[in-house]
Amino acid sequence: MKYQNSISFARELDAQDPLGRFRTQFHMPQQKDGTPYIYLCGNSLGLQPKSTAAALEQELEDWKNLGVEGHFHAKNPWLPYHEFLTSAMAKVVGAKPEEVVVMNTLTANLHFMMISFYRPDSKRNKIVIEADAFPSDKYAAESQIRLHGYDPKDCLIELKARAGEVCLREEDIKTVIEAHGEELALVMLGNTNYYTGQYFDMKQISTWAHNVGAFVGFDCAHGAGNIPLDLHNSGCDFAVWCNYKYLNAGPGGMGGAFINERHHNDKDLPRLEGWWGHNKETRFKMRDAFEPIPTVEAWQLSNPPILAMAAVWASLQIFEKAGMDRLRTKAIKLTGFLEYLVNSLGEEIINIITPADPKRRGSQLSIQVKSADKSIYETITKAGVIADWREPDVIRVAPVPLYNSYEDVYKFYEILKSAIQNAN
Ligand SMILES: *Cc1c(COP(=O)(O)O)cnc(C)c1O
Repeated sequence: MKYQNSISFARELDAQDPLGRFRTQFHMPQQKDGTPYIYLCGNSLGLQPKSTAAALEQELEDWKNLGVEGHFHAKNPWLPYHEFLTSAMAKVVGAKPEEVVVMNTLTANLHFMMISFYRPDSKRNKIVIEADAFPSDKYAAESQIRLHGYDPKDCLIELKARAGEVCLREEDIKTVIEAHGEELALVMLGNTNYYTGQYFDMKQISTWAHNVGAFVGFDCAHGAGNIPLDLHNSGCDFAVWCNYKYLNAGPGGMGGAFINERHHNDKDLPRLEGWWGHNKETRFKMRDAFEPIPTVEAWQLSNPPILAMAAVWASLQIFEKAGMDRLRTKAIKLTGFLEYLVNSLGEEIINIITPADPKRRGSQLSIQVKSADKSIYETITKAGVIADWREPDVIRVAPVPLYNSYEDVYKFYEILKSAIQNAN
């Protein structure tokens, strides 16, 4: 794609954009004077679909009018409610419907998965994780290690980038996996790193982990709804994600979990259980011994929060219409445009730490402004940009194909450029 550095070029791309109409289906946050912000933070909290309010209202109405009968007679009965989301969710992450369930929240799901897939013994007890993993993931892994009576100092193996580099090299991941070999119980990585935006080849990593007899799971918080994930074919054992970043399900919204079908009927796999994982036919008899649903749903514990789930469903219906393939096509073009513009500011001023290869990244670029401090970020914020700052020197921006335009990207570039010029 050949880009041009002009607002008219940006507007031309918008005019040709087959997904352009989706922008109006979202509430765009506004400044005090009513001008919309340039919102480039959908990797942190996705925007609110205009359809979400009606979806919540429906459940409030049914609760108001039907009380407990809503479990059976609501427009969307609450008893099987989570099932309404499954096929759309499965398409977003590339899995079979039996392998996917919307439940709990992200870190909680990470723990539930580790209960099943991290079962250390005196020989095999190590977890491989990224050195710059999202803190919650690291806390979860460390506490699981301690839960089993081991010491994170011995058992948590951190993948570090080479000196002078920011992103991990995949061949180094292989080396570490092979070096720990039979001592390795689990490889657990963010499939898209939250800080650098680097996207890992899940199939490759899964093969390396399985070759040494370890399980492998991915935290897809920054992948789900961003990159078509193909979880089933990746071969990984499990994956978890949140739905409030690229998936627009609202602050603290529910998470998702994937477990490869080969584990669904494994009686040796321990699991924390609750009544929502029990056979639906006999669930309400309340007397039977636990009889797991023969899918990932066996990992469900509680009857789910319908209001929170309604918000996930409202968003998934938009993804059904837009389609991950079309979103990915636009994301590559839109992110490429941003990269082209930012790089035009000059290597001596700017350094994008996200991989330049579109296959190795999603919609996020992490931009280092050399010899700058947080004041650059504060200046662009005042000028109407919502992005995100990560210490010590990185501005993360995510042009989201569902609701961001090429014009958004261009305006961001102009604001960043003038902030840099004024700082010097
Ligand atoms: C956003 C994010 C989280 C947040 O976890 P919650 O349990 O949803 O609060 C955790 N891990 C990663 C990798 C994330 O990107």
